[in-house]
This record gives sequence, structure tokens and C-alpha cells, in this order.
Amino acid sequence: MTKPLRHVLGISGGKDSAALAIYLRHKHPELQLEYYFCDTGKELPETYTLISNLENYLGQKITRLEAAEESPENSFDHFVKVYGGYLPSSSARWCTKKLKLEPFEKFVGNEPVVSYVGIRGDEDREGYISRKTNIQSIFPFRRNIWSEDVVQKVLQADGLVRLRELYEELSEPAQQARVVTLAETPLSRSFTQTQKLNALLDADTRLFNKVVFQMLRDTGYPLSQAEDFSLLNNDDNLIRADIFKLLRESGVGVPAYYEKITFEVDGLQGEYARSRSGCFFCFFQQKIEWVWLYEQHPDLFQRALAYERDGYTWMEESLSDLIKPARLRQIKLDAIKKQSKAKGPSSMFLLDILDDEEEVGCASCFI
Ligand code: SF4
Repeated sequence: MTKPLRHVLGISGGKDSAALAIYLRHKHPELQLEYYFCDTGKELPETYTLISNLENYLGQKITRLEAAEESPENSFDHFVKVYGGYLPSSSARWCTKKLKLEPFEKFVGNEPVVSYVGIRGDEDREGYISRKTNIQSIFPFRRNIWSEDVVQKVLQADGLVRLRELYEELSEPAQQARVVTLAETPLSRSFTQTQKLNALLDADTRLFNKVVFQMLRDTGYPLSQAEDFSLLNNDDNLIRADIFKLLRESGVGVPAYYEKITFEVDGLQGEYARSRSGCFFCFFQQKIEWVWLYEQHPDLFQRALAYERDGYTWMEESLSDLIKPARLRQIKLDAIKKQSKAKGPSSMFLLDILDDEEEVGCASCFI
């Protein structure tokens, strides 16, 4: 017997996944979503507040997934011992694999699952695509809700005949000639996959979704089991400002670590905050964010510092060096310089300096 299709949404503690939960509850209440949160045990307190606010808003529990549930220690401490004190880094990111991806894959098991991911319409990244074929990612904030592998499948050469047939079958008479011509045009150097995708989306996003959905019928993708899918009618494209609006208007609120705090050096003013969720010691954070942690969460900074031993550090510079007064001052002055450049007429957010970095890092941890 075919197993029922599950719909899951991972809450990272960041703004985008929280906003996605709000958005889908409001726009697609028919989806029976299961929410989960991979708890490393090392999140910022603001993250736990956000999760609790979200549970109140949704009226539903967010399942906590712990990677080392059998261990007396929390997940991160358990694995840092397993790795002999070797701290994770951007080039050796065992933390994401062990603390986020593996618990998620265990949570979904082998049942067909649609996983909703909060990558926005103004971002150029793909997010996590599971290698497990029973997990299909969908991106409701983007005009293109489909993952890269699905788009490839639909637009590749051997799908061309079927693509044309479906466009002929599903399009309205007034648009048929134009969309069928687009559909049957093969990919080439002057008509790349991205160009073809955008042309089909520009022509009619909902029609493209219907065609893709039909093409998936003959595949093993989880959505091939669905009779219908309400997101086929989705042609929204949400950007960063929409996310903040959703959070504020819902009452869930923007995670407090995003709130900028003013600091002063030599009579000059700057601002700092944390640009994303994740572990308080995350090695993806910028120097000025470490300074924010040092000054705003001194206890957590000391805990981060305590992991630095036996030659292992969170970045090329040790935390004990980073907090030397001259170095602290320099980091703040560098941040002020960057911020004053960014506050040009095109900048909508004072925190653009930090926000510009948000595409760096890990979709599982920060979305
Ligand atoms: S937030 Fe950073 S340190 Fe924590 S699991 Fe993710 S990548 Fe690793």
C-alpha cells in the first residue's frame, strides 16, 4: 500500500522559515504540515523565544529533533567529543551533517515527503536538496517553486516532446501558440535552462506549475502521488521586506537578535546585531557579530571561548585575540566604515552590511 504523503517544514530559528510557517498557515491551511526544529542545544536564547512564539501562533507543537538523544550531553557536545575536540568549520562542517541533516532524514524515514523551504524570491541559492529520493523540496516564496533537479528533468532534451504535448493540452487558446513555441524550443547556448525557465514562468507561472506537476506523474517524486497540489496556483515572489512584514503583522515578531544595537568608538557611531540564526558560536558569523556576542551575550561568548583549546579555534583568529581592546576597537571601526558606505541611497536597511552576507552559509541552519 502506498504510504500517505507527508508535508514537513523545518524551523531553523531564522526569520525565513518562521515566516514560511506563517505564510503557509495563512495561505494554505489545507496542508497538514508537520513542523520540526533540529536543536543543537547551542542556539541563541532569542531562537528559543521565536520557536515558542511560533508554536503559540500555529497552535501546534514544533517537534524537537536531537541528534544525540541517547547521550547525557546535548547534541553538539556529544559530537565534538566524538570528533576529538575538532571544531567544525566552513570546510569541515560535520555539525550540519550530524546535527541537522541526519536527524531530519531520520525524522522523515522512507516515507514520501514534501519539504517546504523558505528560500526567498530575492535570493540566488538552492538550499538543501536531499539525496534521499523520498524527499522533495518545494520553495513557496519563489516564483519557481521547484527544485533544480525537477527543473532539469522537465526542460532537458528527452522531455521536450512531453513538455510540448502538455503545453498544448493545458494552455488557453489565446496563449497556446506562444507557450508551445517556447516549450518546444530546445536548450542551447543562446537559450539556456535559466532563460527557458524564466520565459515559461513569465508567460504563465501557474500553467508552468501544472505542466511540471503532470510531468512528475511518471516519476518517483513524492508529488507524483498527490492528486492535486494547491501550490500549483502559487505565483507569489516574496522578498526580504515581505518576510519582516509577515513576522511583525502575525505577532510572532522578528527574532530579537536581528534588532540593531548602537555602539560608539572615538565618537563615531555604528550598529551591530546578529544576521542569522544558528549556534551562538557559528563559524559563519562575521567579526562584528562575534563582538556583538561578546558584549550582548558575554556568558555565551565565554562558552564559545571555552571550546577553543588544543589548537582548535572557531576561525583563523582566536577569540581571546579578538577581544583584546585594540582588536575590538579595530573591528568596530571597520564595521562603521562598511556601514557608512552601505548607507547610500540604494540601501533600504541599515543592516545591509550583515544581510548581504546571509547567503553565505548553511541553508539548513539559517533559513
Ligand atoms: S549554525 Fe553553524 S555551527 Fe551550528 S550547526 Fe549550523 S553551521 Fe554548524
